[in-house]
Amino acid sequence: MSNRETKTDVILIGAGIMSATLGTLLKELVPDWEITVFEKLSKSGEESSNEWNNAGTGHAALCELNYTVEKPDGSVDISKAIKINEQFQVSMQFWSYLVSSKMIHNPQDFIMPLPHMSMVQGEQNVTFLKKRFEAMSNNPLFQGMEFSDDPGKLMEWIPLIMQNRPSNEPIAATKIDSGTDVNFGALTRILFDHLKSKNVDINYKHSVNDIKRTSDGLWELKVRNLDSGNVERHTAKFVFIGGGGGSLHLLQKSGIPEGKHIGGFPVSGIFMVCNNPEVVAQHHAKVYGKAKVGAPPMSVPHLDTRFIDNKKSLLFGPFAGFSPKFLKTGSMFDLVTSVKPDNLVTMLSAGAKNMSLTKYLIEQVMLSKEKRMEELREFIPNAKSEDWDLVVAGQRVQVIKDTEAGGKGTLQFGTEVISAADGSIAALLGASPGASTAVHVMLEVIKKCFPQHMKEWEPKIKEMIPSYGVSLMENPELLHEIHTSTAEMLGLSKKELVYS
Ligand SMILES: Cc1cc2nc3c(=O)[nH]c(=O)nc-3n(C[C@H](O)[C@H](O)[C@H](O)COP(=O)(O)OP(=O)(O)OC[C@H]3O[C@@H](n4cnc5c(N)ncnc54)[C@H](O)[C@@H]3O)c2cc1C
Repeated sequence: MSNRETKTDVILIGAGIMSATLGTLLKELVPDWEITVFEKLSKSGEESSNEWNNAGTGHAALCELNYTVEKPDGSVDISKAIKINEQFQVSMQFWSYLVSSKMIHNPQDFIMPLPHMSMVQGEQNVTFLKKRFEAMSNNPLFQGMEFSDDPGKLMEWIPLIMQNRPSNEPIAATKIDSGTDVNFGALTRILFDHLKSKNVDINYKHSVNDIKRTSDGLWELKVRNLDSGNVERHTAKFVFIGGGGGSLHLLQKSGIPEGKHIGGFPVSGIFMVCNNPEVVAQHHAKVYGKAKVGAPPMSVPHLDTRFIDNKKSLLFGPFAGFSPKFLKTGSMFDLVTSVKPDNLVTMLSAGAKNMSLTKYLIEQVMLSKEKRMEELREFIPNAKSEDWDLVVAGQRVQVIKDTEAGGKGTLQFGTEVISAADGSIAALLGASPGASTAVHVMLEVIKKCFPQHMKEWEPKIKEMIPSYGVSLMENPELLHEIHTSTAEMLGLSKKELVYS
């Protein structure tokens, strides 16, 4: 039994994009605070933040149809899309600041320009897409969006999707060139390398097993060193639980009242990846379709060009599925052990309400490869089974809580920051829109947990994120300035591709 014991200002649990972002922000705001990280795996960015475990979409609401809903009067509500776009602009500004301050050397190591498109088939869907386009293209945030239902134009935009397509069904798409593909795994690793260079104490193969409040108001963590098997004790004034799917269990261990009556529902994912370079070369966009009836919003099918491991790839999915694990490397008992006396009713209510979703997810797990190919053929009519392999993506744990609108046990599809009233501990739950909005979400953590420092920190926050606290939609001049400077700084205005 080791007696390693430390005392520090901040402990970050988990080495994913969220801890990476929070650690980097805090190091800029208060360089002399001591930060310690515990990660149970041997490297950073290996769970949901890994490039193979998520879809790499820089979610700016340019193509995701589930962010814009048709209202009963037939008009399209784009308020959610506006919110997500504004949040993504915050990430873009922070990443640009990191490039300009030489903390990131080559932005193309993690971000690439890529058209974002929405594509629908059938008359009703085409009418919806046109209305959506009209509502969005009038908004400065979505300037540059184009719409077409002309098969000739679509053939130019998406030849792989249009070739060999029976011409009897109406089809339409929107396209906007300012979209991005983001390698969140690479970004996480870059940020952890940077944190290491700033003397952040990063401990891999260290699993946090317990979190308790001490009599003097600090937090004490019991951490197992997975190499030696020893249990260590580490104390901090502030703890961030950035354990991804592992966060719920840790939040429960902290015992804070804000963490009660909350449950988690795991949704797994599978992508299909193309192994034929000739097919890969024929596509250059992220093309989002419409979710199938009964499918959860995170299983909207999309055909994506990706930039992974220094090469251009083509992925389709994600197919949602069910596994009781909360992390890809988690345990089959994760779901069961997350049920506690305080969230039992919440969980049972959610179970009863979401029978059809659970059934849908289990059916999805059972799908044969050929059945998955049939879904892919709605995008690529002549896709060949031998050109595609299956890869298992990350786990998402959706938050379940009691809400006024939905009642007991309502399934949430967003992210939630849960923090103690005194701001000494915070956890991030949920997974959508996820990594793209990490900077906005981590600024929320900072605002909630360090209100006493906000006045002092605000000038630095504004230096890093010039639009902080300002609506870009209502300030088109600032928006234009930010679009131009972030595109320049992140190398997104270059048209040529550095990958084959
Ligand atoms: C299929 C899929 C597609 C997605 N697509 C997108 C997308 O296109 N765009 C987008 O923006 N987002 C997307 N997301 C969401 C995004 O991946 C996540 O929101 C984000 O990566 C979460 O980051 P994180 O740091 O919270 O968690 P993670 O990256 O999962 O990191 C958590 C870390 O904590 C560690 N950990 C857990 N428990 C413990 C413990 N007890 N002790 C020590 N360490 C622990 C884990 O090992 C892990 O390394 C997608 C997610 C999935 C699953």
